[in-house]
Amino acid sequence: MRAAVYHGARDVRIEKVEDPRIEHASDVIVKTITTSMCGSDLYTYGGEADPLVVLGRTTLGHEICAEVVEAGDGVRRFVVGDRVTFPYSVSCGSCFLCRVGQTAHCETSKGAMFGAGVAFGDLGGSQAEFVRVPLADDNLEHVPGHIDDVSALFLSCNLPAAIIAVDAASIEAMDTVAVIGCGPTGLLALALARQRTRGPILAFDTVPSRLAAAADRGAQAVDAGGSDALSAVAEATAGRGVDKVIEFAGRGSAFDLALSIARPGAVISGGGVYLEMEHPVSLLDMYRKNLQIRLNGSANAKAAQWKAMQLISSGVIDPTSVISHEVTLDELPSAAAAFADRENGFLKMAIRP
Ligand SMILES: [Zn+2]
Ligand SMILES: [Zn+2]
Repeated sequence: MRAAVYHGARDVRIEKVEDPRIEHASDVIVKTITTSMCGSDLYTYGGEADPLVVLGRTTLGHEICAEVVEAGDGVRRFVVGDRVTFPYSVSCGSCFLCRVGQTAHCETSKGAMFGAGVAFGDLGGSQAEFVRVPLADDNLEHVPGHIDDVSALFLSCNLPAAIIAVDAASIEAMDTVAVIGCGPTGLLALALARQRTRGPILAFDTVPSRLAAAADRGAQAVDAGGSDALSAVAEATAGRGVDKVIEFAGRGSAFDLALSIARPGAVISGGGVYLEMEHPVSLLDMYRKNLQIRLNGSANAKAAQWKAMQLISSGVIDPTSVISHEVTLDELPSAAAAFADRENGFLKMAIRP
């Protein structure tokens, strides 16, 4: 089959690799209908996760809508032809951490993730024609017929992550909210937050098209790189800072911004991925402000998938609104570069192998 193989920083090639096959009775093989590239894939793509992968062998991607083409003898819930999706991380549903909702830290799968390299179970990625899904009865979900192939791929990661971050922010009806990072997941979180407060939402990014997309969703767009970024918050909050911060840029500098614009007693809800092993923050400032910091970058997507389906089904949110490009697998390498460079106008791609 053909798959996106990681060869080194900014070097992804579409190559022939071995077809996945059933290895355990609980496995299912699926054929990819649509997949995509997540913001978290950019850490791998950019070379920041090289110690975790095998150059020239690790395949990428963890978002999918797919069709079951083969099921192991032990699989009960799925048959050939079923249209399905999986969360980016593999969970068993019955270990202690799965039972307390920490499905991203499943003790059975040891936190395995699709397309994330040897350090995370060495599973194949979704940017491929076929994928082996372990523990299929616990991991796969049927996609309801009225959810289209592109909407469905948001069930793997982006929409559950947005739901979890917005829920963790505990937004009240008149709260002033800041959303940092207006990429695909940040914009989904913004759309959900917009439905929870009638107060102002300030949206921070540096890319003009992303700021415009935030404004379209009812936010006051703030150029995070501009000199008046902090004064925009001061103006909107009488100098106090915002009630709730949702952080989806996933960098230490974005976390610093979150700390600086949060009012005393604020909630900072982080959905971004942080790879900084060490990053200086002022514990004094954090304690003085009585901040509540709730990080869910290791999003327990499995636990939020059902809610994500309900939100799409009921029309509360249309995740396809953040799709800017539809490409084939062969077009992925050039599209990945545009995504990584945050090219103006590029937001998220749907890939049809
Ligand atoms: Zn993701
Ligand atoms: Zn588990």
